[in-house]
Amino acid sequence: MEILKNYIDGVWTPSTSKETKDIVNPATQEVLAKVPYGKGTQKDVDLAVEAASKAYKEWSKVPVLKRVQVLYRLKTLMEDNTEVLAEIITKESGKTYGESVGEIQRAIENIEVACGTPMLMAGDVIEDIATGIDEMMIRQPLGVAACITPFNFPSMIVFWFLPYAIATGNAFVVKPSEKVPLTMMKIFEFIDQLDIPKGLVSLVHGGKDSVDAILEHPAIKAVSFVGSTPVARYIYSKGTANGKRVQAQGGAKNPVVVLPDADIEMSARIIADSVYGCAGQRCLAASTIITVDDQKRQIKDALYETVKSRTTGYGLDREINMGPVITPESKTRITGLIQKGIDEGAKVLLDGRNASISGYEKGNFLNPTILENVALDKELIRTEIFGPVMSLISMKNIDDALKFVNGGNYGNMACLFTGSGANARRFRNEADAGNIGINIGVAAPMAQFPFSGWKDSFFGDLHGQGKHAIEFFTQTKVIIERWPNIWSRKF
Ligand code: NAD
Repeated sequence: MEILKNYIDGVWTPSTSKETKDIVNPATQEVLAKVPYGKGTQKDVDLAVEAASKAYKEWSKVPVLKRVQVLYRLKTLMEDNTEVLAEIITKESGKTYGESVGEIQRAIENIEVACGTPMLMAGDVIEDIATGIDEMMIRQPLGVAACITPFNFPSMIVFWFLPYAIATGNAFVVKPSEKVPLTMMKIFEFIDQLDIPKGLVSLVHGGKDSVDAILEHPAIKAVSFVGSTPVARYIYSKGTANGKRVQAQGGAKNPVVVLPDADIEMSARIIADSVYGCAGQRCLAASTIITVDDQKRQIKDALYETVKSRTTGYGLDREINMGPVITPESKTRITGLIQKGIDEGAKVLLDGRNASISGYEKGNFLNPTILENVALDKELIRTEIFGPVMSLISMKNIDDALKFVNGGNYGNMACLFTGSGANARRFRNEADAGNIGINIGVAAPMAQFPFSGWKDSFFGDLHGQGKHAIEFFTQTKVIIERWPNIWSRKF
């Protein structure tokens, strides 16, 4: 069985660790390869950072217009290989082929926006800030930066950071999720073809040990993290304590409010896609649906009708709507949470726990579940399920709904479905979440905008993507200057 190599100093290099973990196809349980893991991976990080530090010296002197040329090349390689990449993503993460293609598109959009770095990283100048004195602010790269990413978007999330980091002149180390490292293996075959200094971009595998090595390495100046909230909090506190710049995106529990004046059919379809897309394993997955004044059960019935016809199966089968969840442990956790909701008083409208897919009986499949009247004072209503489960609750008016939305610990996304501009305006102003959707179910910011997040969904100041990423990967330098002939005013 293949043991994955790291990509360090421009060379595919075996890990110094002898320990490995299986990479498993969640639909079939087939072991796809083995990934290096454990204590020895710390040494791999050291080697990658050593090479990156050397490459940085050369790369930071390359003019920015030249630096972005490699991004154009990377974009073309990703576009030309979308089908191959999508198949790998589906095999290792379980999502549908269409969802895999969609996430690659989102990755490519970030490359495109980062191609604007020659303009985006421009500084400011004020001439004669005092008589004969000029002042300017320039942006310079930080040095070596690293990202640590989760399993649910094996390609896209790395691209919230990587293209901006290198376009602004940094070296970059990628530590993908040990559950889905094969997508990055393929992408690094493309990176290997770029005209960049050896060691500028590295791939290191592993779990907590390699992450700790990143957080402790003095030459790493910035860390971008995306994953669960407890780990995000850990990364932020340890990374900043070690003097690093850190942006850490965490978990979520996203509420969606449906007002009585919403377009019922359209809203139900969009909400169902938002809850069950990627089998609910999206940080922007809708989780709790708050129906307001739905006395005739119009929205509830429409949701039920839409959801019950959704199909589950192997992601490479183009007909299906939803793939498996990532691991058997994840499936057990989700079915346990469904049971907990029932024990806490919820009614089951649709029970997806007994999914069995012909030909894929060993897969981690769950069908869509809908729980109604989930208790507001119990744990499940505030717990991230990260699976294909919709919790339905009823409220009397938008005031109660907003109070509920703002009462949770997370603040990744909140959405409203309505036909009223006034209510929409109020919601977008008052809802405590970093990403807001109005008649949108997955309020995923495009690459031009920061991928926001508030409260326990984000630790840091600057987010990934767009101008925030440019700022994150650069440090500002302010220069004030005067020259003797001006000083003496003798022209
Ligand atoms: P995770 O936190 O388990 O793992 C994320 C990364 O951290 C992986 O690379 C993993 O190797 C590493 N890691 C895991 N445990 C660690 C530890 N104890 N110490 C140091 N490093 C550790 O997350 P996951 O299960 O891969 O991803 C799902 C989570 O990610 C969900 O909570 C989801 O909401 C969140 N997520 C958030 C966003 C966002 O933008 N806010 C986007 C995608 C996913």
